Amino acid sequence: MKKKSDCYDLHCHSTHSDGEKTPFELINLAKEQGLKGMSITDHDTVSCYDDDLFAYSAKRGIDLITGVELSSFYMHGKHFTPIHILGYGVDPNNSELLKFCESHKERRKKRFFAIVEKLNLGGYRILKDHINLDKIGNVGRPHIAHALVKLGHAKDVSDAFNRFLGEKAPFYIPSKLPTIQETIEVIKKSGGKAFLAHPVLIKSRKVLRKIIEEHNFDGMECFYGNFPQSKLKYLFDMAEKENLLISGGSDYHGSSRSYIYLGISFVEEQLVKEIVSI
Ligand code: AMP
Ligand code: FE
Ligand code: FE
Ligand code: ZN
Repeated sequence: MKKKSDCYDLHCHSTHSDGEKTPFELINLAKEQGLKGMSITDHDTVSCYDDDLFAYSAKRGIDLITGVELSSFYMHGKHFTPIHILGYGVDPNNSELLKFCESHKERRKKRFFAIVEKLNLGGYRILKDHINLDKIGNVGRPHIAHALVKLGHAKDVSDAFNRFLGEKAPFYIPSKLPTIQETIEVIKKSGGKAFLAHPVLIKSRKVLRKIIEEHNFDGMECFYGNFPQSKLKYLFDMAEKENLLISGGSDYHGSSRSYIYLGISFVEEQLVKEIVSI
C-alpha cells in the first residue's frame, strides 16, 4: 500500500509562470497534502529556485527537486503538436539554461503583445492594468485567458482557449519554438534529465511513438493529473519497452481547474531516486 508520506508531486506551476500560488505557498500546500517532496516546474523558467526557497522547503521538511517545463513542438507532416519537456535536477544557475529561458521570456513577451493587439483590433479590449507584466514571471496565454474571463468575454479559461487563444482559435499567434532536440540538450548540459511531459495528452499513439523513438528522452511522465491508472497502462508499457524512466505529477496551476489539486498524481520515492540523487 502506497503511503503519501513517501511520495513526490513532480509537476506544478507557481506565480513565476502561469500558476496561482507563490513557490512558498506551494511548499505549504505540499506539506498540507502530506507529501514528502515536490518539484516546481514553471513554464520556461527556473527563477523560483533561490536560496530562500531551498531554506524554506528544508524548514518545512519538503524535499525540493529542481525542475522546469520547457515549450517545444513536433511536426508530423503539416500537423503541429505542442510538446512540453520536463527537466529534473537541472542546475538553476547554469548559464546556458538561463540564456535559453531568457529567449523564451522574450518570445513570450512579444507573443503577448501581438495577441493583445489582435484582440484589441477585434474589439476585445485588454488594457495594461488587466495584466500587469511587472507582477508576472513568465507571461503565458492563461494570463490572457483569465483577463478575458474577468472582462466577461469568455465564460471560463477553457472557453477562452476554445474561442480565442487555442492553436485553432482566431487570436492564436504562433511563435518560434526551440526543437525537442535543442531542448533535451540544454536540460542535459545543465545536469538534468529530460522527460516528455503529459504524453497522455498526445492524441495519436503513432505520433507519440515517433516522438519517443526519434529523440533521446530519459523518461516520460506516466502518472498525470486526474487520469486514472487504468487509462495510462499503454504509457507504462511503452516506457518499459523503450527503457524510459517514469515521472509523475499533478500539473497543479491553482483553482482554475478545480478537479486538480497538488498531489493528485505523484511518484514514490523509489522512482524519484532513479531521476535525481536524494
Ligand atoms: P502557453 O505556454 O502560454 O502557450 O500556454 C499554454 C498553457 O496554457 C498550458 O501549459 C496550460 O497551462 C494552458 N492551457 C492550454 N490549453 C488550455 C485549455 N484548453 N484550457 C485551459 N488551459 C489551457
Ligand atoms: Fe501551464
Ligand atoms: Fe504542460
Ligand atoms: Zn505544466
